[in-house]
Amino acid sequence: KQTLRLDKILSHMGVGSRSELKKMVKQGRIRVDGKPVKDSGVQVNPDVNVIEADGERIVYREMIYLMLHKPPGVVSATEDNRDKTVIDLLRKEERVFDPFPVGRLDKDTEGLLILTNDGPLAHDLLSPRKHVPKTYEARVLGNVDEEDIEKFKAGIQLDDGYETLPAELTVLDREETEEGVFSSISLIIHEGKFHQVKRMFQAVGKRVVYLKRVAMGDLELDANLEIGSYRELTADELDRLR
Ligand code: URA
Repeated sequence: KQTLRLDKILSHMGVGSRSELKKMVKQGRIRVDGKPVKDSGVQVNPDVNVIEADGERIVYREMIYLMLHKPPGVVSATEDNRDKTVIDLLRKEERVFDPFPVGRLDKDTEGLLILTNDGPLAHDLLSPRKHVPKTYEARVLGNVDEEDIEKFKAGIQLDDGYETLPAELTVLDREETEEGVFSSISLIIHEGKFHQVKRMFQAVGKRVVYLKRVAMGDLELDANLEIGSYRELTADELDRLR
């Protein structure tokens, strides 16, 4: 790996701004291989040299991979004039990496959203040719039946004429209420058209009232991850995504 300017590494890792770092260097608070450095612009190799700020080891890396349990009410974008975005849910420590959401969930949809700054990985996961399966759980107004399961398996036509790829629909539960029958379902789709799950049910005369993504490829939403919180992917999870 090539060498990089020390201040570039430290600012990327969120230690401080360029001018703050200059000050820290002057105060002898930045060490490389145990020795205080004199110049914040010195070239170092983050794979070889040991970098410390205030005695704490700084491990440089360029990429970040986060699993977010997206809450409803936030948009899957990096910026928005009106709404809170998924990036607004992150701490500064993660925001310095400039992560972005891999694909989109609707504002009212919850569940698994991957955030990364790894463009090629995001591109691969979203590529229509790869058909990465996405698993959703939903509550649907209407009695989802065997006929719907068959239609989803065969492919159905959406409101714009698009024919969906075969999808696996499973009914988990049914509930009769004063407003009608609600079905709890699980659905695996192998593509990601705009509002796809909602439009698939609309095509069979039913309405999604709650939607949550629980898996993307082999990556499952961590059941211990509270709504609105996030964590880094483990090395194992990242391997399974690739
Ligand atoms: N399908 C939808 O309709 N909405 C989502 O957010 C994801 C899939």
